[in-house]
Amino acid sequence: MFSEELKKYDWDETTARIATKTEADVARALTPGRRLDIDDFMALISPAAEPHLETMARLSRRYTEERFGRTVSMFIPLYLTNSCTNSCVYCGFHVANKMKRTILTEEEIVNEYKAIKRLAPFENLLLVTGENPAKAGTAYIARALDLAKPMFSNLKIEVMPLSTDDYASLRKHGLNGVICFQETYCRERYNDYHPRGMKANFEWRVNAFDRMGMAGVHSIGMGVLIGLEREWRTDVVMMARHLDYLRKKYWRTKYSINFPRMRPSENGGFRPNCVMTDRELAQATFAMRLFDHDVDISYSTREPARLRDHMACLGVTTMSAESKTEPGGYYSYPQALEQFHVSDERTAVEVETALKAMGRQPVWKDWDACLERA
Ligand code: SF4
Repeated sequence: MFSEELKKYDWDETTARIATKTEADVARALTPGRRLDIDDFMALISPAAEPHLETMARLSRRYTEERFGRTVSMFIPLYLTNSCTNSCVYCGFHVANKMKRTILTEEEIVNEYKAIKRLAPFENLLLVTGENPAKAGTAYIARALDLAKPMFSNLKIEVMPLSTDDYASLRKHGLNGVICFQETYCRERYNDYHPRGMKANFEWRVNAFDRMGMAGVHSIGMGVLIGLEREWRTDVVMMARHLDYLRKKYWRTKYSINFPRMRPSENGGFRPNCVMTDRELAQATFAMRLFDHDVDISYSTREPARLRDHMACLGVTTMSAESKTEPGGYYSYPQALEQFHVSDERTAVEVETALKAMGRQPVWKDWDACLERA
């Protein structure tokens, strides 16, 4: 399990190693044809690589087009509930927040699916919940998948970490992918941000990716919440180590990476401990592409439109559009409290038009259940 592997890596030592990377280390990492290791990755996200951003962008674009063509896979999230038993200090849905909690009924879920279909021909659907296993647990998620199956080709979830058996059982209901953000790999401070509830169990969360792999989940999505730790680079390196571990162990699985940047929470009142600039986000994206040519890199509507359009030409392969981050936001409860504010407020059709104008090919359907049977 990765929690054992992680013990080999010291947070402060990793931070120090990144800081000591030099231009010579960056030049070595950028040697044509070199297969990058973690040390190279550290060099590419270090401050020493900042003057080489254009070279990194060129390589990132080349590798992305070699593997993905000019496609951008489109998806949309649907929040099923904002009910949560956790107390993440940066989230407005935390258990102590006095707010109206909603768990969509079956009828409301179907209404949301129909409303999504009216926006654009979405086939990739991400079902999102807070963490409340008693009221919106595996059986509830299974039912939502059953209802979605006739309408969407590719079903993913972003819910509480589950057992291997639960992941395996959800696959029988059409589950194709799971996204789980570790938030931070800093074991020492993880519980400062996640003091109570299931999410306080660092090991259960970090080992969820192994359980997904063992259950044969086709696609696994990872991410660290940029802004939790002062040293975002250290968290990104830890995530790259995790990715490296997973892709060797569960080599049939497809992986995706996300770098969600935190905003000051309107409800939790949490002030981010660092701000990652657009340039730094681009650097992390290019470094990840150079490190792993096959990994999907996803930008959500948290990011501004201009940046998303630009990065779709340089390394990003997956995007959400017209997202609502409140349960029932597309039809049933459009004015409810959102989990985070979206920056890119364009409609899905407007995003599609902008991507086409940039020479990209937005793809609505890139998976079918028959592929898994094959
Ligand atoms: S981040 Fe997720 S788990 Fe934490 S309080 Fe918010 S909804 Fe719950």
